Order: sequence, then C-alpha cells, then structure tokens
Amino acid sequence: MTETAVDLSSVVERARADISRSASIDQLEQVRIRLLGKKGEITALLKSLGGMDPEERRTAGARINEAKDELLGAIENKRAKLEEQALAQQLASDAVDVTLPGRGQRIGGLHPVTRVRRRIEQIFRSAGFEIAEGPEIEDDWHNFEALNIPANHPARAMHDTFYFPDGRLLRTHTSPVQVRVMERQKPPVRVIVPGRVYRCDSDMTHTPMFHQVEGLVVDEGISFANLKAILHSFMKALFEKDVKMRLRPSYFPFTEPSAEVDISCVSCGGSGCRVCKNTGWVEVAGCGVVHPNVLRAVNIDTERYTGYAFGMGIDRLTMLRYNVTDIRMYFENDLRFLRQFA
Ligand SMILES: [Zn+2]
Repeated sequence: MTETAVDLSSVVERARADISRSASIDQLEQVRIRLLGKKGEITALLKSLGGMDPEERRTAGARINEAKDELLGAIENKRAKLEEQALAQQLASDAVDVTLPGRGQRIGGLHPVTRVRRRIEQIFRSAGFEIAEGPEIEDDWHNFEALNIPANHPARAMHDTFYFPDGRLLRTHTSPVQVRVMERQKPPVRVIVPGRVYRCDSDMTHTPMFHQVEGLVVDEGISFANLKAILHSFMKALFEKDVKMRLRPSYFPFTEPSAEVDISCVSCGGSGCRVCKNTGWVEVAGCGVVHPNVLRAVNIDTERYTGYAFGMGIDRLTMLRYNVTDIRMYFENDLRFLRQFA
C-alpha cells in the first residue's frame, strides 16, 4: 500500500464519522470545508497527484475521486436529513391551532339612512326630477326671509336654530336650496334636495342632525292634484306596498295651502299598532302649493307660474321602512345594528 492509500483510508474513515456526528448544517459545512475546501484534506491529496508517476497517478487518482464522490454523497444525504429536522422543529414551534375560529374580514355595508336616501333619489329621478344640493351653513335670507319667514315670525320659534356668532346658521331644513335653485334657474324647475339639517332637539324621534329630502316643482299649470299624485306614487314605490295616503290641512309659511301627509301604517297595514299609536296612520311629510311670496323673492312671475313643494324626513322614512324604533340608533355606530342592513 502506498503512503497516499493509507492517508486516504484514514481520512475517509474520520470523515464518515464526522459527517454522521454533525448535529447542524453549520457543523456539517465545517466538515465539508475541512475535506473539500481550498486547503481541504481531499483537495491536498488530489494536489499530491501531480508529483506521482503516470501509472501511480492513475490508480491513486481513481481512488481519491471515488472517495471524494462518496463523501460528497454522504454530506448531501446528511444535509437533507438536517434540513428536514430543522423544518420539522420549526413547524412544531410555530404550530397553529386550526380549531381556533378565524378572524375574517367582514364586508361593510351602506348605512340604512344612505340606502333609503339613494332609493328616494332613484324613484324621483325616474319621475324626471333632478338632484340639487346646497350648503349646510346658511344665511338668514335663504333659510328664513326668502321662504316667507321674516324676522319675528312665530315660525322661527319652531325651528330651534343653531346660530353662529356672525348671524349665519346651520340650515334648519333643506328648503333654502329651493331658493338657491330658483335664483339660478328659471322654470320649469323639477328638483329634489336631499341633505343634512340641524335643530337643537334630541329624544327618541329627534336628533340635532337629521336628514331631509325636499321636492320642488315650478312650471305653468302646476296644481295641488299633481302634488298629491306624485307623493302617492312615491310612497307606494318606496314602501313597495299599496299604501293609502291622506292629506290633512296644515300650516307652513312657505306654502299655501299646506298639508301634512299621512300614509296607512306600513307596520300594521292600518289596523292599529305601537308604530302608528293605534291610529292606523303615520305622518310622513309636509307639503303645499308654493307661496307666491317665495316665488316673488326670486323674481318668478306668479301670474304665469305656480309650484308645489314637499319635505320629508329621511330618517323617519328609514325607521318606517326597517321598523326601527329609536332614531338615535342611526348615530351610535353599533355594528350589531348596522350589520342588519348590510
Ligand atoms: Zn300601525
């Protein structure tokens, strides 16, 4: 046996033991470098071939390469085993309890008031109305004066207005937008005005901020009969029921004649329940023929044109449509309440 052969078998024997003893990929890598790195033992043996005569080189070269292949194979096997162990260990420590309930992502939905507002807009749009909007901070002229409510008019007391120090105010109804529309547009006018309004009031059926929708039609030959027809078909479309409608004489400064609009109770159908306080009727709107003073305030010829207007509480209509008993629930943002409408 030559020197090289003795060296080789002892190197291989030790290497096998070291590979099999390696407890980590790092340790295994150290063994590989010791054997096969630039200054490794096997590498050195391969280099020593250069000093041999050809016959000896052929035999020794084959043996060394065979040993090198064997050790490389052993290292790869061991590496695969160690990687597998490491993965199993990691999986064990990162264990996920698959029986826990998922956190999930809930899909949000539109607020019930928004849903009903959009529905109202859709119904009126299909009847040829345009949607108009106006500022929530108003001046006295648009909110009161131009609507036939001069200073010291008793109707101002009904409005519980929030005033700013400079005399401007939070609009108490959407009616000022009527005035703004007629200021910039001559008849025919056919608009609805949905929006937020503000009054200093709070209980089960009132909140300081609430939503109204206003309707205004001004044209030649417009009468109370047109108003009644459009409101009745609107109520039937909104509640998807053949509701009855009745008008009761009332008073608003900006309409004459004026009426309150009742519909047969959508909850009990008219037989009497808590919602309608056992009357079979619920009040849903105010309306009337536009007062000539309102048309005059925006320079519309009252000999030629007439109009009608109506106003409804969107929150109130939403309560009726979804059987909600306390208006304040709309603003508490309780997800258990809101999710029922999603
Ligand atoms: Zn009822």
